[in-house]
Amino acid sequence: MTPDKYIKNYIDGALLPAASGEYFDNFNPAVGKVYSHIPDSDERDVQQALEAAERAFPEWSKTEPSTRFRILTRIADIIEQNLDDFARAESIDSGKPFAMARSVDIPRAHQNLRFFATAILHFSSESHPMQNEAINYTLRQPIGVVGCISPWNLPLYLFTWKIAPALAAGNCVIGKPSEMTPMTAYMLSKACSEAGLPAGVLNILHGHGAKVGQAIVEHPKIKAISFTGGTNTGKKIISTAGPMFKKLSLELGGKNPNIIFADCDFDEMMMTTLRSSFSNNGQICLCGSRIYVERPIYEKFKEELVKRTQFIKVGDPFSAVTDLGALVSEQHMKKVMSYISLAEVEGGTVLCGGTPVEMKGEYSEGYFLRPAVIEGLPHTCRTNQEEIFGPVVTIAPFDTEEEVIEYANSTQFGLAATVWTKDISKANRVAEKIESGIVWVNCWMVRDLRTPFGGVKSSGVGREGGLEALRFFTEQKNVCIKYS
Ligand code: NAD
Repeated sequence: MTPDKYIKNYIDGALLPAASGEYFDNFNPAVGKVYSHIPDSDERDVQQALEAAERAFPEWSKTEPSTRFRILTRIADIIEQNLDDFARAESIDSGKPFAMARSVDIPRAHQNLRFFATAILHFSSESHPMQNEAINYTLRQPIGVVGCISPWNLPLYLFTWKIAPALAAGNCVIGKPSEMTPMTAYMLSKACSEAGLPAGVLNILHGHGAKVGQAIVEHPKIKAISFTGGTNTGKKIISTAGPMFKKLSLELGGKNPNIIFADCDFDEMMMTTLRSSFSNNGQICLCGSRIYVERPIYEKFKEELVKRTQFIKVGDPFSAVTDLGALVSEQHMKKVMSYISLAEVEGGTVLCGGTPVEMKGEYSEGYFLRPAVIEGLPHTCRTNQEEIFGPVVTIAPFDTEEEVIEYANSTQFGLAATVWTKDISKANRVAEKIESGIVWVNCWMVRDLRTPFGGVKSSGVGREGGLEALRFFTEQKNVCIKYS
């Protein structure tokens, strides 16, 4: 399965150019050059996809769960069988190391499909008997045509995380992957045809968020929107879809705190903190970007973190020794670097990194940045309040539990947090008080797909994962039967 130069929309089972006939450039961020072209879709493509999805819905929504299970599993099998091709495409599109795409992104994409293919076989609803009078039962019916919009940081991983539960629950879907990383979603459309997914059940549109994304959100017949992306985009989506009373699931930005107590397992914590800081160049919504360390171990932690960060190998995404590849785009690299300058203006000291990596040969124009560790900033400054979404962490000491909880909760975000301590009572106390949707104690990114996933405050509305996702993608109806 090889990627094409001209990506196509997937509408009604066919691969089509955008109605506009226009394409725009898709960059390989490691090389800094255009390598393929993306259809510039608009509301006409959304309308065409909507009509196809509406035609497909009556039959798809009535298929046996076992049929949906079989088709989704087949799609998963095709992705797994073409693991190297998908991983190569993901790496070229996003700049991340091939090894990461091969071991994390693509395996998780087929796991998502299998997870929800199976989950729908076990999905049930409640009944509420009223003694000697009536019985209520709850129907959970597919919503209809739903929109699924995903970001660029974990492209196929997050796209399938949405479309799998939507399809498993019997909906027809109009999906839009990020215009920064559309290639694996395009390859997925071919896998869907090969797996026998009926035409119109899944439609994948490519293009700019403000144009085709916005048209999906605005379309009155698309009844629910599941969105993952930035908080500002989330606000725009709410302001459009809220007054239309659409069902909304929003997974937004984060500024996650890592809280490290002096009694933690230092070696385990160091190993994991390096990963939670810089995996995927810090371009994971769950990465910890504000690290608070209890004062007795602060200096030791700082020395060790800086030493290990300097050892991180940034470079050729296809080299087996590379830890971090390129940032996703030139614009994103500029944004990340502007925050490093801001940190200095705000009085911070850059202890290491934060400068572009001078690459030779084919990668000389790529967007490579050395991971940065910054200290000396108050928790209230912009560097510690705004999402950077790059390989940048700040570190600061703390003295008491109350103080660190105040720091942790001081941003508008509330997605994830980590707590490091061997004292289980302290771990529970702190976990309970942190304002976030996810708390990891003595670990990071340990994921059970059955658990609720999402954020509080400006990090989102609603939850994905397990039954939460199937509940989101179904409409409940209570049926009450009186008897005597
Ligand atoms: P983004 O908001 O710019 O784009 C996300 C998607 O929305 C893209 O497909 C884009 O084309 C589309 N879009 C943009 N404007 C739109 C509009 N007006 N209407 C409809 N769709 C529109 O985000 P991004 O830069 O792609 O991703 C990075 C952000 O995503 C970060 O803030 C990160 O924290 C967040 N993120 C959150 C989670 C989570 O689970 N909470 C997971 C991954 C990424």
